[in-house]
Amino acid sequence: MATTAPVIMRLMASSINTAKRAGGIIRDVLKKGDLGIVDKGKNDPQTEADRSAQRCIIASLTKKFPSVKIIGEEGGSDLNVCDDWLVTELDESFLQQSCPEEWQDAKPEDFVIWVDPLDGTAEYTQGFVEHVTVLIGIAVKDAAVGGIIHQPFYKQPGGELGRTIWGLKGLGTGGFVPVPAPAGQFIITTTRSHSNALHQQALNAYASTEVLKVGGAGFKVLQLLEGKAHAYVFATPGCKKWDTCAPEAVLEAQGGCLTNINGEHYLYNADVEHVNRKGVLASLGQNHSELVEKIPADVRAAVGAKL
Ligand code: AMP
Ligand code: MG
Ligand code: MG
Repeated sequence: MATTAPVIMRLMASSINTAKRAGGIIRDVLKKGDLGIVDKGKNDPQTEADRSAQRCIIASLTKKFPSVKIIGEEGGSDLNVCDDWLVTELDESFLQQSCPEEWQDAKPEDFVIWVDPLDGTAEYTQGFVEHVTVLIGIAVKDAAVGGIIHQPFYKQPGGELGRTIWGLKGLGTGGFVPVPAPAGQFIITTTRSHSNALHQQALNAYASTEVLKVGGAGFKVLQLLEGKAHAYVFATPGCKKWDTCAPEAVLEAQGGCLTNINGEHYLYNADVEHVNRKGVLASLGQNHSELVEKIPADVRAAVGAKL
């Protein structure tokens, strides 16, 4: 089964196991206690966990899929990793499913894998570990099609740590129980560490009943998938393609929508600008175009006009 399944099914099955292994590395670094924090820019920290998780993911996927283009947040990675970090097994239960017809013939050179080895680094360093996710997004040509969102610190009912959520357009989602957001309310999920005046102006344009400020693009999309929020609003540049590729694919595989604040989808081919210049607007179970229209014209014009 594993060797004959279409490339996209093997990429998803391999990414599921690799994201889990990266999650283990992220827990181990925290347990050891030496985070090795480096500032990549203003409000943009990197830790030993970001670096090590990226090495594990890039080395494992490159070894299995040498002709697939992979772009990781932490730049070029050393492909020589210990055997313990090299994930070779595919998730067999994922492979039991049928590949959607539209992706059956996609070839290795049609794919770009966008890797955020640790989304929510600021929160990781501040002890809000439940906001942390590992994101592996699979684009076919321009579109975000498949995604893995792994939560290293999610507590399973039995006490075990870690949960892995996946989505593939045309197939669906797995690893969690979708819950609709409460009727009669409008809850927004948004950034807790990258706000500014324009972004605040966009938030104020919605008649929200509550604003949840949480870290990471992955965790915010999980708020939508589990019915804790109706919309994810981020009206400023700053998120990158590795932040949104996996969340977009999972959310849209569940029937939601993730776009820029003008309602346009981002492109995910290997040549695109990494920054999501026009912010992020995501929703599930809402009229997405109506949410787009609520953003004031002056905010729309100003967001991303210059970085
Ligand atoms: P947030 O919603 O602020 O947690 O951001 C979601 C993702 O986008 C995280 O990976 C952040 O690191 C990244 N991000 C958002 N805004 C910025 C920014 N101004 N500078 C650097 N990274 C950002
Ligand atoms: Mg991130
Ligand atoms: Mg990151």
